[in-house]
Amino acid sequence: MSALPLLSFDSIPAEVDAVVIGGGLAGGMAALRLASAGFRTIVFDRTAHPREKVCGCCLAPAGIAVLSRCGLGGLLSDASPLEEVLLEAEHGAAVVRRPGSVAIARGALDVRLLAAVSAAGALVACPVSASVDGSGRVELRHEGGVRHVRARIVVAADGLHGSSLARRGDFAWKSSERSLIGVGAIAPAGAVRVAPGQVRMRVCREGYVGVVRLPDGRVDIAAAVRPAFLRAARGVAEPMRAMLGDAVTDERAVMDAAWQGTPTLTRSRSRLSAPGILVAGDAAGYAEPFTGEGMGWALGTGCAAGDHAVRVLSGAAAEGEWDPICRGIVRGARLRCLLTAQLLRSPLAVKACVRVIQALPGASARVARAFGAPSTVPIGELR
Ligand SMILES: Cc1cc2nc3c(=O)[nH]c(=O)nc-3n(C[C@H](O)[C@H](O)[C@H](O)COP(=O)(O)OP(=O)(O)OC[C@H]3O[C@@H](n4cnc5c(N)ncnc54)[C@H](O)[C@@H]3O)c2cc1C
Repeated sequence: MSALPLLSFDSIPAEVDAVVIGGGLAGGMAALRLASAGFRTIVFDRTAHPREKVCGCCLAPAGIAVLSRCGLGGLLSDASPLEEVLLEAEHGAAVVRRPGSVAIARGALDVRLLAAVSAAGALVACPVSASVDGSGRVELRHEGGVRHVRARIVVAADGLHGSSLARRGDFAWKSSERSLIGVGAIAPAGAVRVAPGQVRMRVCREGYVGVVRLPDGRVDIAAAVRPAFLRAARGVAEPMRAMLGDAVTDERAVMDAAWQGTPTLTRSRSRLSAPGILVAGDAAGYAEPFTGEGMGWALGTGCAAGDHAVRVLSGAAAEGEWDPICRGIVRGARLRCLLTAQLLRSPLAVKACVRVIQALPGASARVARAFGAPSTVPIGELR
């Protein structure tokens, strides 16, 4: 994969067909579909790529299928196949067979997708922060400089942290008061014990933490925890070390890792479109990371947003038709994820689940369904 060609801030054109805000998986897919259809498209990301972000780095079958259908299976050429989830709780542990997902670092995956976007003809500019003003113009900021760009359509795919629509009161977030927040870091190889091909998932009263080995041997750690847990600890590294418990083999490395956080996870928007605007990926709403499907939701809604934007630009559809399309893509999986996560907040339910799997290994297949549909794409075909 070639290096990512970037547009300089001064060279940004005053007008394009489409602006995509956010160069993550949703923004990347939307831009790819727009550029492939021949529309002048520019992607802005406020962070320089490659960048890591809080993510469990387990790409589930649905996300693999989106990449494969779009001819992007090669982006996963070095991804590590995952076979099982080791579910650990206060009262025991159980292994759930769960083949079909892969582990890949977000820094690698997202920059590869952006390189494909660029190869398809889109412009990419980062680090540039973008926001939509009241008149639909996009304001751009970079190192104290300000520019504006006009687009016939804007796809906002700026994730949970995004503020590109903050000046648009009609897109305000609704967030659950009981929501967990996300925390994550990548630690050096061997810092936390996790077998190759395994997702190690620890569930406790404060939330849950997942660990996976990345293709280069480093260990990705991602957790969803009660905000009060971190407030009481006045920091992130120590509570994470405590949650990981005896899985930690190198305490110093875990304490020194570059921990990042997220805002509240469970959130939604009252609308996902307006004239000239579509919203996709986490920016359109999120549930919880328990089943490890967020990347798939981002790839799926990003791809569909790009296709819908193409139809809007071609006069074949209206922006307002986007809301039910986007919600329809994720509704079933998000509901399953929320229900599973709620259930696992009860220590009794976790205990019962672990006991049932231990006593009846056949029940493990039923538990695996909580993590989504099995793969329809053999991993070997992606190589
Ligand atoms: C703890 C945790 C664990 C998770 N584990 C998994 C997992 O194992 N598997 C899985 O599939 N999913 C997982 N997820 C979910 C997954 O990380 C997200 O759903 C996915 O990254 C969403 O992609 P996105 O493209 O919508 O947003 P992002 O990946 O967040 O990308 C948004 C981009 O927008 C940029 N941006 C923000 N604001 C602006 C702005 N104003 N201007 C320009 N750019 C901007 C950001 O820099 C960023 O690059 C997890 C999430 C959490 C919190």
